[in-house]
Amino acid sequence: MSAKAVKKILIAGGGTAGWMTAAYLARWLEKVDIQVTLVESELIGTVGVGEATVPGIHQFIQDLGIKESEFIKATNATFKLGIEFKNWSGMDTDFFHPFAGYGVRIEDRPFYKTWWSAKAQGYTAGLEKFCLCTQLAKAGKFALPSFDEQSRLAWYNYAYHFDASLFAKFLRVYAETKNVERIEGKINHVQLDSSTGFIQSVSMDSGQVIDADLFVDCTGMPALLIGKALGVGYEDWSKWLICDSALAVQTKSVVDPQPFTRSSARTAGWQWHIPLQHRVGNGYVYSSEFISHDHARKELLDNLIGERVTDPKLIRFTTGMRNDFWYKNCVSIGLSSGFLEPLESTSISLIQTGIAKMTGFLVNFEIDEKQVAEANRLNRLEYERIRDFIILHYKLNGRSDPFWTHVREMGIPATLEEKIAAFCDAGDIKIAEQESFKEDSWVSMFYGFGLKPSSLDTSVDPAKIQSIMNKMKSAIEKGCQLAIPHAEFIQTIGT
Ligand SMILES: Cc1cc2nc3c(=O)[nH]c(=O)nc-3n(C[C@H](O)[C@H](O)[C@H](O)COP(=O)(O)OP(=O)(O)OC[C@H]3O[C@@H](n4cnc5c(N)ncnc54)[C@H](O)[C@@H]3O)c2cc1C
Repeated sequence: MSAKAVKKILIAGGGTAGWMTAAYLARWLEKVDIQVTLVESELIGTVGVGEATVPGIHQFIQDLGIKESEFIKATNATFKLGIEFKNWSGMDTDFFHPFAGYGVRIEDRPFYKTWWSAKAQGYTAGLEKFCLCTQLAKAGKFALPSFDEQSRLAWYNYAYHFDASLFAKFLRVYAETKNVERIEGKINHVQLDSSTGFIQSVSMDSGQVIDADLFVDCTGMPALLIGKALGVGYEDWSKWLICDSALAVQTKSVVDPQPFTRSSARTAGWQWHIPLQHRVGNGYVYSSEFISHDHARKELLDNLIGERVTDPKLIRFTTGMRNDFWYKNCVSIGLSSGFLEPLESTSISLIQTGIAKMTGFLVNFEIDEKQVAEANRLNRLEYERIRDFIILHYKLNGRSDPFWTHVREMGIPATLEEKIAAFCDAGDIKIAEQESFKEDSWVSMFYGFGLKPSSLDTSVDPAKIQSIMNKMKSAIEKGCQLAIPHAEFIQTIGT
């Protein structure tokens, strides 16, 4: 196949994926003569629940040239320093997965390894005491990180919680201002070129036919173009990630928003709590094999804080990924390309990296088979690495309900088994190609779930280690005192 030039791009779907793609393309193609059109159907609507992000979102906002304060105001956003996991390693336990690392290297050894050695020799301060990000979250405080080495508020990252529908609206205005054409209506047919198998055009209920050279499938779970029209299959991962349902509900805010997402383990899954400025997003992700929808609904409603402002909305899903996220002249972005439960808030970031792969591998604005194959290879690796990280949360759980016993005892991918074994042996963290979650994230999980390496390096003088650690701990305590409550910080935005 010779490379195919792209002059017109059609985005099918206007959820978070559609409008993120439209906004990015509008900016990227500002000085290029390529027409971008987006089709969406208000009647069909969007999933509209993706509200927690990871720090990579900064890059997206920066790439669009949007001011952070403008974005925060427009989307009622709050700041996120990480995720609190309640009752996952057993009842009445909690631990924090921060967007940051722990301590600094001591005698050229990773801090966490030295900490585990010190702990074995009687040191009592927990690993979380060496992470300013975790300490700020626990205190309900926030400050923008400084990257000045001398600063006490250095070396952590942050993300946002935002209102998904406001986010899509904000991006729509941005994209339309930059000449993206929006067409309202329902696509009812996709025409293929009989000789190449490429998509030629889509037909609308109105009778309109829209042609393009490149089609971006952002139609969500139905995957109208990549799945239904082109027949690209879906790899089902529900044998490892057995949750298949979610109930989502919004409540009024009754306390100041905390600067983190909370994930609380429940009978047959987990409940999210995502605080925005004006309301809270809540939901229960569960396995319908272990709890009925009615019981899940009751358990969710019994565990809400604040008055409910919407009825619980049931969403069914199959965890997995599209075999090829890019096939011929169609790229799937968002839920059409796969679904991983929102335990680590990775879907919006996968939208972002999907857009980056599409634009990065569209060399000279041409579709080339070799570039497409490489984009697909990288996409698969990225999905599989995140899948493993999410499975880890279930595998290491310390609960005794039937659901939790099942997911602890189930088989896991060999790639994940190797990672757990490497840590349990010598405390090593194996980071592979396209790994979204780096060393610090794996350390926080192993620590939170109570694992420890069996062979520890005890060659450094314990008294020396403890003295250095105590200094670090007190610097973090002082740093934390400098920050202000998260709610107050939000008030300062744009003033
Ligand atoms: C329970 C749950 C919780 C989640 N939480 C998070 C989270 O905290 N963080 C995170 O990063 N992600 C989260 N996600 C994922 C996130 O919601 C999605 O990645 C994101 O919303 C993107 O969805 P989408 O745009 O691909 O699909 P959708 O929102 O479903 O949008 C599909 C679009 O296609 C259009 N469409 C469909 N068919 C047609 C047609 N025939 N003709 C015309 N238009 C059509 C629809 O009108 C709509 O505009 C969550 C997902 C679920 C299910």
